Amino acid sequence: MNYTKTIFLKSVAELDTLPQALGIEVAFAGRSNAGKSSALNTITGIRSLAKTSKTPGRTQLINLFTLGEPEDNNFLVDLPGYGYAKVSAAIKKRWEELLNKYIATRQHLKGIMLIIDIRHPLMPNDLQMINWCTYHKHNIHILLTKADKLTKNHANKAFFNTESNLAKHGDLISIQKFSAVTKEGLEEAHKKLDEWFGINLDD
Ligand code: GDP
Repeated sequence: MNYTKTIFLKSVAELDTLPQALGIEVAFAGRSNAGKSSALNTITGIRSLAKTSKTPGRTQLINLFTLGEPEDNNFLVDLPGYGYAKVSAAIKKRWEELLNKYIATRQHLKGIMLIIDIRHPLMPNDLQMINWCTYHKHNIHILLTKADKLTKNHANKAFFNTESNLAKHGDLISIQKFSAVTKEGLEEAHKKLDEWFGINLDD
């Protein structure tokens, strides 16, 4: 898949206004500031695709991108970051409802790329997302990002701890280390997306 062909389609505030998926849909989710925008930009190779370093917790919009050939109707969906402490209970509730409903209702959702800062794995909101996704039998691929911020030993330790904490979910969840700075794990992330978008890896 040529991920550099990703094109911004639109931002929506409500799920009802998302276009109906005809092809395959993959969503990016994660705590606010975990590095989701940076991961999206690194994976697509488009530096300004998703806006990084915005004020945490401000973006509540769902950003929609088309991927590859437009006629394939494949979507990448950038879900609003969750878990930012300094927002009202009402906004937190709205996020919860939106994310839960998205996971429960998007029929063409093939998998969720869950972006987690390797220094803070599996915070309560992450576990909630994982529970929603596994309940609906959606695949999750976790990018333990900002791996460059830890020594190799500490990064590996975080990886193995996270992996063993989620082992009970079996094949539904896969995990890798990632860095938007060093591009560690970029190939592995592309491979997972290729798998989800049905690209024949032997071609
Ligand atoms: P988002 O809120 O999840 O979209 O997070 P951003 O992508 O905006 O990243 C939040 C902050 O973390 C920014 O200052 C980024 O430059 C930084 N960041 C994101 N990914 C990495 C990474 O892999 N390594 C390092 N060192 N910093 C990162």
